Parts: sequence; C-alpha cells; structure tokens
Amino acid sequence: MRANLKTSVQTFMGCRAEYEESEIALFGAPFDSTTSYRPGARFASSAIRAESIGIETYSPYQMADLENLKIFDAGDLELPFGNAGKALDTIEAFCGKVQDDDKMPVMIGGEHLLTFGAVRAAAGRHPDLRVMHFDAHADLRRDYMGESLSHATVMRRVWDLLGDGRIFQFGIRSGTKDEFDWAASHVRTELFTVRGIDSCAEAACSYPVYISVDLDVIDPSEFPGTGTPEAGGVSFKDLLDALLCLRGLNVVGFDICELSPHYDVSGISTALACKILREMLIAYH
Ligand code: MN
Ligand code: MN
Repeated sequence: MRANLKTSVQTFMGCRAEYEESEIALFGAPFDSTTSYRPGARFASSAIRAESIGIETYSPYQMADLENLKIFDAGDLELPFGNAGKALDTIEAFCGKVQDDDKMPVMIGGEHLLTFGAVRAAAGRHPDLRVMHFDAHADLRRDYMGESLSHATVMRRVWDLLGDGRIFQFGIRSGTKDEFDWAASHVRTELFTVRGIDSCAEAACSYPVYISVDLDVIDPSEFPGTGTPEAGGVSFKDLLDALLCLRGLNVVGFDICELSPHYDVSGISTALACKILREMLIAYH
C-alpha cells in the first residue's frame, strides 16, 4: 500500500490543480445573512464537496472529463456573518485577483446576494459585461424592507452597475408587480421556462458573459433543498440544455447558489448541484 503523505483536504471532485497551473479557481462562499425565509445556504459548499465523492468526473453529456481540466479549489472564503457589504468586498477582491492572474473565478454560494461581489469584479475588468441569470425569482427589488443589499435585490444591484439590456433572466415565476413592470423596460425576462436561450446567446456572443444559477430555478420536485422553493420550475435537463447552449460564449465567471443542505433530507438536491457544477466547469473552461 502506498501511503498518502499529502495534507488531507476535501476538494470538489477531480479539482486538484495547484493555483499557479490552474485555469479555473473554484471557491466556496458560506454566507446567508440576508436570507429572508429559510437560512442554510452557508452550508452548501461543504455539502457539495462531500457529496461530489459519489459523482463521476466524466460527463457523458459533453464527453469530457473534469480530471483533464486544471481546476484549483481554494476552499471557502472567510466571510463575516451579518456584514453583507464586507462579504461582497471580500468576494470581489478574491475574484479580481483570480481574474488578474488570467484565471476564471467560480463561486459556490451561499445566498444569491453574493453574486453581486463576483459581478463587480467581472464588470470592473469587462465594462461591456452581460449577465445570464437563472432563477425562480426576479430578484429585482430596489430594496427589501429598506435594505439595498439582499438576495431579493441582487439583480437590481447588478443593473445599477450594468444598465439596460445587459441582464437576461430565465425561469422567472415569482416577484412583485413592481418588479415585473420594471423588468419589462430594463432587462430581458423569460417567464417560467428557458425558452429563448438561443437568441440570448446570440445577442451576447460578442461580449464577456457572467452566468449566475440560483438553483431554485429548478422545480422543487427535483430540487427541494433550497430556502425559498417555488413550484412550477424547469427540469434538470432543461436547465442543463440551456447551460450547454451557452458554450462557446466568452464566459468570464459563474456561480451556483441557494442550495440549502438542511432541507435536502435525501441528498438529491446536493447531488444535482454537483452535476450542474461539473457540467458548467467542463462547458465554460
Ligand atoms: Mn435569486
Ligand atoms: Mn431564487
């Protein structure tokens, strides 16, 4: 028997490159302080790493193996509970450093607000950035109970940064009348489904793109493990097909967020999250 004499660190499956040689830097963002309903997304990154042991590194969808990519898993960032501003600053600084080193940052949230930190880093380096947003919820409130930084306002904050016509939303089936009225003239929103992904991919094909997947876009029957489940969602296969449609775009960063493992009693949501992450890493590397 050959002894393993390296430090034992749990990484996402197959992601064992050193930072210097890597093309992607994966990191966890364990923070859920603005979650308005059921908290727990802070535990997602450790659950995903643990669950990933049970998933193959090979993708039969793309006929490629995660192990052949150079991916560094940085572990989890240390984020201050209760201080959303500081958490976003920390994420922006980390993603910025990774991008300045010519690598792509990939975030495992955490609650959805954290996407704003990663988008700030990407937009700072790519002023013509486009954002593809998959979610059950519009996340376009100007504020939530007076708070401008919230998982319910995250795409409105992204709009503050990018302006009209740069945000493409899919699967949206929940929001206030004000959000939907506002969305009509500022963002492109595909209600209920991921239809229209082809034309959005075409519209974004000459720009840098950030992709954010709030996993509650998937129907709760397939993905129960989330803080704000919303009936009437898309299937895993629909989401995967849509994400694979975005292959070939100039993707400069992406995230998955809002897995809340304590509501995932059977483990199926965590396993689904692992599979989506594997496919996205292979698709956009
Ligand atoms: Mn969201
Ligand atoms: Mn959501």
